[in-house]
Amino acid sequence: MARYTGPSCRLCRREGEKLFLKGDRCYSEKCALSRRESAPGQHGARRAKLSNYGLQLREKQKVKRYYGVLEKQFREIYEKAEKMPGISGENLLSLLELRLDNVVYRLGYGSSRKEARQLVSHGHFTINGKKANIPSMRVKVGDLIAVVERSNSSVKFKELVEKAATTPKWLEGNADKLEGKVIALPGRDDIDLPIEEHLIIELYSK
Ligand code: SF4
Repeated sequence: MARYTGPSCRLCRREGEKLFLKGDRCYSEKCALSRRESAPGQHGARRAKLSNYGLQLREKQKVKRYYGVLEKQFREIYEKAEKMPGISGENLLSLLELRLDNVVYRLGYGSSRKEARQLVSHGHFTINGKKANIPSMRVKVGDLIAVVERSNSSVKFKELVEKAATTPKWLEGNADKLEGKVIALPGRDDIDLPIEEHLIIELYSK
């Protein structure tokens, strides 16, 4: 699956806000955005006032970058969200949250979604006892995500889980067993990201 391989901090500078793509570094003084707020490129220092379209476009790019999803895949998720009952913007965020790499990150096994994605690709997790190494796999209520046996004695996982932030209420983590269960669908209130999802829906509805 294609993925962005360029510098992560450049993406934050483009959006003008922290996207927390590099784990601990994002919370330290080393964060590139704390040192240089301008957008990348020759004319980055001049941030033009955005049109309505510009605002919608930036919001979409920001969300894609949060979750590490490229345009084609993001569009497919939007189309699915639109067909679901309920509010399309909330459905979109819920589907993004249910990606396996995000769930692994939310359970505390990665310090960023990018790291969680790599851990999934390297085969460190199972879903309901079956190998799960595709970061975009979507989990459902009742699924049990666990660290594979060969990795579950790893000090790294124990350390990561111990210092992880609180697990959202739609997930139930078990740090001793190195596993977590999806106990509900993520609601809008469970998603702690500053996203105006209605702007994305307006953009795609044109
Ligand atoms: Fe963004 Fe993290 Fe880089 Fe700061 S350190 S610019 S938050 S990716």
